[in-house]
Amino acid sequence: MSANIQRIIIDKDQVVTVTLKPHALNIFEEPQNNLWTFDLEGRLIGMYVNGINYRRTLDNHFFKKTRRRFNGETYREVNPISMDEAKRLLEKGQTFLKRVESELPVSFQFYVRKVLDMDVTRLTESGERFSRIYLPISILPPDQYMALVLQITEGCNYNQCTFCNFYRDRPFHIKTVEEVEHHFKDVKSFFGEGIKLRKSIFLADANALVIPQKKLVTFLDLIRCKFPDIPRLYSFIDVFTGTKKSTEDFSTLANLGLERVYLGVESGNSELLDFLHKPQLTDDILELSNHLKMGGVRLGIIFLVGAGGEFFRQKHLEDSLKLVKRLPLDSGDIIYISEFYETNPQYRSTMETRGIEVPTRLDIRTMSTEFKAAVKQMVPKGVSVSIYDIQQFIY
Ligand code: SF4
Repeated sequence: MSANIQRIIIDKDQVVTVTLKPHALNIFEEPQNNLWTFDLEGRLIGMYVNGINYRRTLDNHFFKKTRRRFNGETYREVNPISMDEAKRLLEKGQTFLKRVESELPVSFQFYVRKVLDMDVTRLTESGERFSRIYLPISILPPDQYMALVLQITEGCNYNQCTFCNFYRDRPFHIKTVEEVEHHFKDVKSFFGEGIKLRKSIFLADANALVIPQKKLVTFLDLIRCKFPDIPRLYSFIDVFTGTKKSTEDFSTLANLGLERVYLGVESGNSELLDFLHKPQLTDDILELSNHLKMGGVRLGIIFLVGAGGEFFRQKHLEDSLKLVKRLPLDSGDIIYISEFYETNPQYRSTMETRGIEVPTRLDIRTMSTEFKAAVKQMVPKGVSVSIYDIQQFIY
């Protein structure tokens, strides 16, 4: 199905354009330039109304994405909106669609009906169904926000870093083959035609590659069989368990579709890593990165900036740059600079015990700007260096 565009004048100055794409349906209204996007099951994905961006999560929460200027810096913000407001905004788009429905070609009708039927009550039901299939999707790398998440493990097998609160709500669990088969069946049925929006698969939760190799290969074979239209796989990996896999292991996984893994390096400074209760060694980071690259898997390296405040700033930057220099980076790899957000009370108490001043948001922004500029100068051509704002994450 290629994109099919219908432009209909509904008033002397007002035009509604409905676009049926291979993966989504859009309603665009002029002159206000309002836009609504739905998946092919009729579920609202996002909308741009009166100059504001809104997103709906698959568990049916609605958020407003805005920018705020503070002390000369721009901060992106994501804030929830009420169900009443979401309903009003959704119905505005559906009303435009209703007005042009009869003028749309037959090929549109099936999907238009789905969109019109998917009111807030049905979206709520869909959200509840999603929450029965998945534990909360805590975080993904920015280039994977539109991935199809497959939760083949739950939680984090380490779960002790003082700056991280993502998986404290669940025990670590590697699913059995039966549980994974059941999960895949539920996921396929839930997404329906909406799966066409998903261009990659992300293996969740925190470090799915911790699964023993033989079992992991079984899971990846199953994924190939059940989701043949989404060939590229992505995952987080941790240094503690990643070093147990060899180049050959990664080569096998790459042949099964593993494209890139994201490694929370956080810092090249071992004192800061100890302070954050993430005692990984530079040599292990390098060994794992080399095994991955030799196995044909791309790298997504994540540095955490702002943790440990001004006390760690200089040594964190210097040692991280030394590490970047030694990493086997080339075109297609990514370095993310994650601005620290305090989510774990353990971090605050460690800072207080050590008598370290907690940095402000502006301090952290200054550090990340400096860090990004320095890393950019050091990486080979084709390596992307980007900010990773965990507060922007919506699934
Ligand atoms: S940072 Fe990674 S390894 Fe540490 S607790 Fe969080 S998910 Fe686990």
